[in-house]
Amino acid sequence: MPITGELFIGAERVATAQTFKGMRAETHQEMPTAFSVAGASEISRACELAATCFDAFRELPLARRAEFLEAIATEIDTLGSELLELAGQETGLAAARLTGERGRTTSQLRMFAELVRRGEWIGARIDPALPDRKPVARPDLRQRKIPLGPVAVFGASNFPLAFSVAGGDTAAALAAGCPVIFKGHPAHPATSELIAVAINAAARGCNVHAGVFSLLNGPGHELGAALVADPHIKAVAFTGSRTGGTALVRIAAGRAEPIPVFAELSSVNPVILLPGALRSRAEALGREFVGSLTLGAGQFCTNPGLVLAVAGPDLERFVAAAADALSQTHPAVMLTAGIQQSYENAVAARASQAAVKTLSRGTAGGSPRHSHGALFGADARTFLGDPALAHEIFGATALLVECSGREQLQSVLQSLEGQLTATLHLDAEDHGSARALLPILERKAGRILVNGWPTGVEVSHAMVHGGPFPATSDSRGTSVGSLAIERFLRPVCYQNLPSELLPDALRDDNPGRLSRRVDGIWQPS
Ligand code: NAP
Repeated sequence: MPITGELFIGAERVATAQTFKGMRAETHQEMPTAFSVAGASEISRACELAATCFDAFRELPLARRAEFLEAIATEIDTLGSELLELAGQETGLAAARLTGERGRTTSQLRMFAELVRRGEWIGARIDPALPDRKPVARPDLRQRKIPLGPVAVFGASNFPLAFSVAGGDTAAALAAGCPVIFKGHPAHPATSELIAVAINAAARGCNVHAGVFSLLNGPGHELGAALVADPHIKAVAFTGSRTGGTALVRIAAGRAEPIPVFAELSSVNPVILLPGALRSRAEALGREFVGSLTLGAGQFCTNPGLVLAVAGPDLERFVAAAADALSQTHPAVMLTAGIQQSYENAVAARASQAAVKTLSRGTAGGSPRHSHGALFGADARTFLGDPALAHEIFGATALLVECSGREQLQSVLQSLEGQLTATLHLDAEDHGSARALLPILERKAGRILVNGWPTGVEVSHAMVHGGPFPATSDSRGTSVGSLAIERFLRPVCYQNLPSELLPDALRDDNPGRLSRRVDGIWQPS
């Protein structure tokens, strides 16, 4: 399929005078297509179109909205190997990784389709009137959740499919009934265009108004800032850097009508090695840790960037095994020249700190465009005295913090900012220590793991990919899993509406056979 570089304003393909080019990750060379940059006129047209079709889209029968989501998944499958090849060129990610990511993208669209059909997310509640209640009668009260309105979605560079154009945020917003205006990531514009073609084809095939989806491109921050400021936008979903996400939070809060921003930003994902686990399997833990650390050149928001343990011979065994495993890893291509430069600068700065030891580096060499992993060590006093040591470095690097005992380990945990994940490695003898740490970890993280590694996020109903700031800008939600739909909904209460004016979900005859809470009691369908 030819890549045209045009924007999508609903079904309309739009070319503009100003353009930019995508880059090959492996060579840092420009790719041939010139991509149109969206200006003020394209932004307001896309937002207006989304607002125009919002009411019709949100009142589509649930089965139709579910079919639309499934059709997007089918159209993505139809793109075949061309999608994977282009995404590979633009991101440097391996074919196997991209194949898995495509499967995750389509399966999360299908999961949301199933969720939409079941309708529990509508949260239907009915408190029947109590006309004889004394001293005052109770009116008839009925509640359902409705979508917020058009959502601006920003994808991340590190997941060109699963956290991009038809990724989790788009799927959750469309499932809720919100039109999406997607701000394409400049690191993979051709991949984005192919996915936009798929969404457009799905809308056409399902007779859904094409204005429910637009794709706007443009490098530089003006486009994103203007999009968030547009009065038709009612919420923002973002995955990327702490700087970018917090800038958008400020813009959204400063609007005449402030709107929510669900931004996933930054996390070092602490891994705590408890003494029993270290004693029984320090070497295996060291090797597994390096596997998780270096996966995808470390370019995961759940990368294990901080390891905490009490000093001693068993921790030395762990360090020796991890250092050995890391020294055997190969240099890797990073997503963009900018990300690689940030990584190299941050690693060099950390290596130059007098109180930080370089414990191991991955194999150097290959092209200067390849990065190699780095494992650093510091004692807990150093860590507690330098807040910058707790900041994320995006890439395959981690800091091991040696603590003098359990109390100091707790102090280190207490000092941390919010995290997407926190991991405990433990044996049965460690359960007492783990129990003492769990309340701290619950306050810090969105997901707590035992005897696993944080990379790899299941798309399911119980998953939380969120957490207190700076893991996210709003800790009450998740950007992965079916609960993600809640971010784009708000409750409306209907008081004493005649039955013929009520939405189907709240009618006494319950035509959709929805599960509902009636007079406080949950009634399954
Ligand atoms: P990013 O630079 O934050 O960009 C994400 C998206 O937001 C892009 O579309 C970007 O487009 C836009 N944007 C960024 N800053 C903006 C601003 N101030 N105003 C308006 N729009 C803005 O993230 P990235 O490119 O994916 O990766 C860069 C860094 O983000 C990495 O080095 C890493 O530190 C971090 N990162 C974190 C995660 C995570 O999951 N926590 C994932 C990926 C990356 P424009 O540049 O065109 O404005």
